[in-house]
Amino acid sequence: MEIFWLNKDPNIPLIRGRSLHRKINAALVHIQARMKTNLVWGYPRHLMIDLVNTCGLKCPICAQGRGEIPRKPAKIEESLFKSIIDRLGPYLVTLTLTNWGEPLHHPQAIAFIRYARRHKSMYIGFSTNLQMLPPDLDALLQSGIDEIGCSIDGATENTYRKYRIGGDFNRAMNNMKRLVNRKRELNLNAPRIRWQVLLNRYTENELTDIQHMAGEIGVDSVVFVPIYVDIARMFTASAMERFERDREWLPRDEGLSWYNYHTGTFKKPPAVCGKLWDSMVIHPDGSVSPCCAVIDPKDDFGIWRNGRDFWKIWNGDNYRAARRLMAGNDSDIDGIVCRRCVQNGVVIY
Ligand code: SF4
Repeated sequence: MEIFWLNKDPNIPLIRGRSLHRKINAALVHIQARMKTNLVWGYPRHLMIDLVNTCGLKCPICAQGRGEIPRKPAKIEESLFKSIIDRLGPYLVTLTLTNWGEPLHHPQAIAFIRYARRHKSMYIGFSTNLQMLPPDLDALLQSGIDEIGCSIDGATENTYRKYRIGGDFNRAMNNMKRLVNRKRELNLNAPRIRWQVLLNRYTENELTDIQHMAGEIGVDSVVFVPIYVDIARMFTASAMERFERDREWLPRDEGLSWYNYHTGTFKKPPAVCGKLWDSMVIHPDGSVSPCCAVIDPKDDFGIWRNGRDFWKIWNGDNYRAARRLMAGNDSDIDGIVCRRCVQNGVVIY
């Protein structure tokens, strides 16, 4: 079993898929990101598709749990999903099927994974709160998914219930064990079953217990993930305002956090945002955001109705303006979310 801190998992094979068109695409994207061009003649290599945007839990510092995401509840339609995969699949390195929702709430989740799996070289994964599993567990395990992240924050029911409001600890644990045991019975190499734990004020006291339990259960990895404070106001409130709102949830051990507890800012200095050249986020209704933290549809960069929309969005006014901003030219981008991102110290240009 492997243990990772700070959400860094070196096992995601970012160089999988060595076909010529992938290599050319990777080179194009890399060069254009370095040059900070506002037009990009390559496809994103990392894609997040939120299959559904409902979750069912009320986690107290999650924008979804707080009811602070102003998007209508939706499930992605099959034709939309397929058009995205058909267009971008040949170039993708990673496909993540979760953003703000619980992917297993989508009745076609397994069929969608199978469809995406036609592109052998992409790494497909999602995170689930494990409050339910599909009736046909074998179908999920054999769908072609590479990794299932099991979001269980705590080694005990008491700790889990503090954060995963509305969740059932025993159900989540039993479902994680079912995944591990059935995968073993079927003698499968994939998916990797990953226990992911948010580092908060309560879980910080159970890290040793979690590692011990994970070893007994037989998960493939444990990942401890520092929490972000007040994501809903990432682009509208100052760092200190956001920090103060949620500081009671941060671990006492500052070493387990992204934040400097004196300034409320990120410890790691902000960098130029590379997402604008290399990744895309698509919501269940087809709206496109430049990153997973964009919760307000007013800040979206376009809407994907079919594959022909890709270039209109990818090199449309919003993406180009945001890339220009990152290149240091911000003369024409009033109101764009990336500008507020810079103003609030999340990234720099
Ligand atoms: S600049 Fe900020 S808002 Fe824009 S894509 Fe990057 S992280 Fe997201």
